[in-house]
Amino acid sequence: MRDFEKSGKLEGVSYDVRGPVVEEADRMQDEGISILKLNTGNPATFGFEAPNEVVRDLIMNVRSSEGYSDSKGIFSARKAIEQYYQLQDFPEVSINDIYTGNGVSELITMSMQGLCDNGDEILVPMPDYPLWTAAISLAGGKPVHYVCDEASEWNPDLADIRSKVTSKTKAIVMINPNNPTGAVYPKEILEGVVEIAREFDLIIFSDEIYDRLIMDGYTHIPIAPLAPDRPVVTFSGLSKSHRVAGFRVGWMVISGDKSHIKDYIEGLNMLSSMRLCSNVLSQQVIQTALGGYQSVDDLLLPGGRIYEQREYIYNAINNIDGLSAVKPKAAFYMFPKIDTKRFNIVDDEQFVLDFLHEYHVLLVHGGGFNWQSPDHFRVVYLPNLDVLKQTTAKMSEFLATYRQK
Ligand code: PLP
Repeated sequence: MRDFEKSGKLEGVSYDVRGPVVEEADRMQDEGISILKLNTGNPATFGFEAPNEVVRDLIMNVRSSEGYSDSKGIFSARKAIEQYYQLQDFPEVSINDIYTGNGVSELITMSMQGLCDNGDEILVPMPDYPLWTAAISLAGGKPVHYVCDEASEWNPDLADIRSKVTSKTKAIVMINPNNPTGAVYPKEILEGVVEIAREFDLIIFSDEIYDRLIMDGYTHIPIAPLAPDRPVVTFSGLSKSHRVAGFRVGWMVISGDKSHIKDYIEGLNMLSSMRLCSNVLSQQVIQTALGGYQSVDDLLLPGGRIYEQREYIYNAINNIDGLSAVKPKAAFYMFPKIDTKRFNIVDDEQFVLDFLHEYHVLLVHGGGFNWQSPDHFRVVYLPNLDVLKQTTAKMSEFLATYRQK
């Protein structure tokens, strides 16, 4: 029999948030070892419940959701999304510019499949949410990483972005609020990015799935209203704000000047039809979820679970010798820096594996977010305070004697 190999299209495609380190954690679990998995931002697994009204919508609509829907999504969901963005002054958005997806993930892949020819360059943040890099590579494109600067609250470095544009650059990806850093970008930075997109004729892709998870009185500023003269594709969904990652509810919205992307839109429409439609039952909750009271706000204010857990993890990590971190303003991740000289760290994946083997806690190394030096890792601070306390105590103990060979 011949050996079957994976397709050449997968050459160079990786997704380490669920990759080799996770396989090792699974192997240990199979041996009966209990592992605390802090590799994904999945609120439901840490005791965060979906709002009752959202669950009720789902139950009430089971019968009416048995069939396929329009490939872009049901009317009530897209109307609610349209209104959500009208209130934020998104330019030129009608219901036809809105696509629902099985999570934002499906739409990230679709948007890149529809755009990239072999060798087309797409600017992506570093660190990034690695699905973007993987989706670009899978589509035949070349992800070109621009630096987000830790010394400047993890904001994108505009000079670095500009220096990385070439004649092959088609688009720039923004992740705002950011995973893994928790940064929320100020208006000047967003305006700077729009300026670059104007100058070099780029499409802007803006992943704003954490737009409703902001703390400390900061405001999320969507990029689309700042760029009415550019095509902008904005992504969001309910996995995080409504704690329903398992329902797989996401959407993307094309705003601004679409006169030069008609062919791309045709491609997106075709790709959207090829998957028939996104989960219809899950789409039914969008109208209720986006309207009215946003229960996530309570989690993000002082006394709320996410806020208090962020306060704890930020202070605790900064109190561990050899670690430091910028305070996250949004979402539920932090991206601490390791003093690599002190621990002689040359391989961040090994660092994470060593911690996993000794203390049975799974983190993701900075390289998993396409960060290029071996000096960071991501913490998901969704577990409750007791678990976070145990985790930071373990980290402190681990680092007290750690040294890579
Ligand atoms: N974009 C970012 C920045 C994320 O962090 C995630 C999930 O962690 C996603 C997209 C995917 O979300 P979804 O559950 O909607 O597929």
